[in-house]
Amino acid sequence: LGADDFLVKPVDFRELAARVKVLLEKKHFIDRLRSDYAEALNSAINDGLTGLYNRTYFMRFLEQEILRSNRQGYPIGLLMIDLDDFKKVNDSLGHLEGDRILQETARILRHGVREIDLPARYGGEEFAIVYPYADPRGLHKAALRLLSTFGTHRFLSEPIAGMACLTVSMGLAFYPQNAATAEELIAAADTALYKAKQSGRNRVVLADSVVIDFRTHTVKDKEE
Ligand code: GH3
Ligand code: MG
Ligand code: MG
Repeated sequence: LGADDFLVKPVDFRELAARVKVLLEKKHFIDRLRSDYAEALNSAINDGLTGLYNRTYFMRFLEQEILRSNRQGYPIGLLMIDLDDFKKVNDSLGHLEGDRILQETARILRHGVREIDLPARYGGEEFAIVYPYADPRGLHKAALRLLSTFGTHRFLSEPIAGMACLTVSMGLAFYPQNAATAEELIAAADTALYKAKQSGRNRVVLADSVVIDFRTHTVKDKEE
């Protein structure tokens, strides 16, 4: 019934102490094993620095959502976000301060999405958010809202290297409008992000063929 050991009376005090000591050591060992296991499980899906989901989990989630979207016929939005001129931040303030800013970025992203959306650290200073059941117009507005949150958040206590505040660039793409697979969707959002950088940073760029019809709130192909 769960007993670990037994003693025969009369009990010898030294033997009792030795047995208790062995059992306590066994208990510590099992506890450590349990917490190592929980930690390993956690680090397999979470990013250690920001606590957001990591790239591996993000990919699995996106692939699952695409399967679900194929069955149920709803669009998925993917927003790729990259901090602008982050190298300057590291160079001026140091890597530790850079890390703190990445953690703050994660907090902003976590607070800026609904429960069904998935924010993740894609790598380095690049983040991604998967939006199942995406309403394109609403999503575009949400991205603009995030942009202004970043633009006004006081990451830096004083301007550095000509930067008064920290900004981000974003690329927004939709499944199935822009892509047939998870990789293609990431590539489409990445290309849009690249254009956001090229055209001056601190902005949201939509993937190529996406035009948002603000009267009907739908996404159309440009050729239509
Ligand atoms: P751009 O506006 O074109 O994105 O410029 P950038 O300087 O942000 O881009 P670049 O890719 O040249 O530099 C990315 C920087 O992000 C360089 C790298 O040291 C920093 N970085 C990546 N991961 C981490 C991290 O975990 N912690 C810190 N502190 N910095 C990181
Ligand atoms: Mg960057
Ligand atoms: Mg980058």
